[in-house]
Amino acid sequence: MLKKIYLANPRGFCAGVKYAISYVENVKRTTNEQLYVRKEIVHNKRVVEDMKKNGIKFISELNEAPDGATVIFSAHGVSPEVVEYAKKHNMKIGDATCPLVTRVHRKARKFKDNHQIIYIGHTGHDEAIGTMGEAEMILVETVEDVGKIKNRIDPSKPLTYLMQTTLSVIDTKEIVNKIEEFFPFVEHPEKDDICYATTERQEAVDQMLDHVDAIMVIGAENSSNSMRLVQLAGKKKPGSFRVSSAEKLSKAEFEERKISILGVTAGASTPQILIDEIIQKLKEFYPESSVETFPGSREDSMNFRLPAQLLK
Ligand code: SF4
Repeated sequence: MLKKIYLANPRGFCAGVKYAISYVENVKRTTNEQLYVRKEIVHNKRVVEDMKKNGIKFISELNEAPDGATVIFSAHGVSPEVVEYAKKHNMKIGDATCPLVTRVHRKARKFKDNHQIIYIGHTGHDEAIGTMGEAEMILVETVEDVGKIKNRIDPSKPLTYLMQTTLSVIDTKEIVNKIEEFFPFVEHPEKDDICYATTERQEAVDQMLDHVDAIMVIGAENSSNSMRLVQLAGKKKPGSFRVSSAEKLSKAEFEERKISILGVTAGASTPQILIDEIIQKLKEFYPESSVETFPGSREDSMNFRLPAQLLK
């Protein structure tokens, strides 16, 4: 029977997600034109549904919007090809890309002409597609992949690597070590690209693992950072699991997990309301259980300011 719920800190919305959402809200306030957001603004259905109720249309590609439309790029960023399309079709562009993703794009442009670039990331993820559009890159997802790209790297030319911002810190370190082993001439970038929010949420889960029976991660299946939290928790506590909404939580299923102390965290794109609803449901199942923030945890204090000009 569930006795205690520990809440990880930080959990839920990161600065980049708050930035992207307020970007759209601010554009909405300043124009009466129909707004089109390309792809999910952040990887969370609830956030997207709330925006749809507010009259915002979501499209998969820009050709679903008319020429001259006002379009907003999601937090995950887009490739230069998408920007070109928008310009060619006289679209007004709002770029809600997280500034930490934009930083990786800038690095890609810097390395583009004189380096071979390995990109550590997940095939098909919106962020990976956008960043890899900036320059020619070789994608690796796993340590094993590094061995497979040996014949694609020219040892006479400079080599460096970039990474998706939402990767597992531990797994990525192993991949970087393998890159160095196979290609000792690799130039390490000054800074890794895994963002502060991903790192801090993984650290918070790591700190809780010895004190709970399992971790419940609240987040969407297509949220890379949520999936990395489930993966991290599962290594030490195999009973850890992910849930996307309160409706998906059933008492019978929860009982089977035999959890007495539960750690709760949420991916960077999970809104607080979802976390509140799920905790409330657990309290309905187990009214005697207590809820407290895990001791020693810290708050997420990062903030990004919106640009003065939202549409270009
Ligand atoms: S997870 Fe990191 S990179 Fe992604 S939006 Fe949040 S702060 Fe930006």
